[in-house]
Amino acid sequence: MKSLQRILASRPLRYPQVRYLSGLARLDASKTIIEKTTSPIAKLPKDQLVFGQSFTDHMVEIEWDAKKGWAAPRISPYKNLSLDPATIVFHYGFELFEGLKAYKDSNGNIRTFRSDKNMLRMNQSAERIALPNFDGEELMKVIDKFLVLDQAFVPEGAGYSLYLRPTMIGTSVGLGVGTPDKALIFVIASPVGPYYSTGFKPVALEATDYAVRAWPGGVGNKKLGANYAPCIQPQTQAASRGYQQNLWLFGEEGYITEVGTMNAFFVFQNEDGKKELATAPLDGTILEGVTRDSVLQLARERLPADEWIISERKFTIGEVKERAAKGQLVEAFGAGTAAVVSPIDRIGWKGEDIAVPVAAGNSGELTAQVAEWIRQIQYGETSYKDWSRVAK
Ligand SMILES: *Cc1c(COP(=O)(O)O)cnc(C)c1O
Repeated sequence: MKSLQRILASRPLRYPQVRYLSGLARLDASKTIIEKTTSPIAKLPKDQLVFGQSFTDHMVEIEWDAKKGWAAPRISPYKNLSLDPATIVFHYGFELFEGLKAYKDSNGNIRTFRSDKNMLRMNQSAERIALPNFDGEELMKVIDKFLVLDQAFVPEGAGYSLYLRPTMIGTSVGLGVGTPDKALIFVIASPVGPYYSTGFKPVALEATDYAVRAWPGGVGNKKLGANYAPCIQPQTQAASRGYQQNLWLFGEEGYITEVGTMNAFFVFQNEDGKKELATAPLDGTILEGVTRDSVLQLARERLPADEWIISERKFTIGEVKERAAKGQLVEAFGAGTAAVVSPIDRIGWKGEDIAVPVAAGNSGELTAQVAEWIRQIQYGETSYKDWSRVAK
């Protein structure tokens, strides 16, 4: 019975009706307990903000227990975690995370961008490593309370934001490898400045095939901490040859998958006169980026259909090289929450460099256009569908 409950509790997305019958407590934002800090942290001047180096006064914590379900969420002063060295997260990688940002609009409201997508992805990551699911809207309501409490830490101005890091870890104590019967969600927040403080700065990539980021049947499409540590050493190698990031290839064919920790977009000029915006399809080896989806949706809606084709298709480094040689490579960029878009101007492959045009100066024209479209929605200057949520 106990193990049945545990299985049911870890599968509420597939068996939503069972979640109610199981009697386990659901994540409930209305139960949030707030303990305010008595020693506020000094806020750094905007020009001293470094990504992920300073944090806000408070943090969110929500414990889960297989027998009881989700405990009351707590928002309390930022502090160290205290965990037994035998805690399962330290040994078998039961860790997943999300990354999203909160923006201050011109009325002083704090807004998150498409956070429902982050909550869905967080649940999908949890499901894959036998950690519990939760109601994403309830976690967002807790995060909203946290944002309202720490709103003074959200820096104002274009490019400034508060980076949110929701995380879940398995906290069962013991060295047995199995389904964790305890877990913890925590959320911390770091004020950040513009990724590019003086306009875009295009990056050089090294096309990488000796190390593989993700593979069919693997977990590259989940935001698990375990996916990131193995990418640092290849990045260091690329850096030693003068390239900032890896362009991750897959297979004998050299399919282009992602760039660093961003989704990859290429623009080609087709022979029929149309331009094509291409990115790799979600075949299990690609992280389903919120920015990727936003670029695709906005491009499909706003670019003239008689001039553009928007493709999710497989394409290879060979095609990029060939089309660059024919003058048919128009631009390329990475897409992700941290930078929104990151223009690419050079790709090293088998000892030669492929030059990528940057027609708008430091980026391609479409790169600059999609960055602006997304920025306007993030800062509440343009309202679009339900993509921007005001924290209340
Ligand atoms: C987080 C991430 C992305 C970008 O996702 P966003 O939701 O757009 O921030 C792309 N690729 C990898 C590998 C990632 O970890």
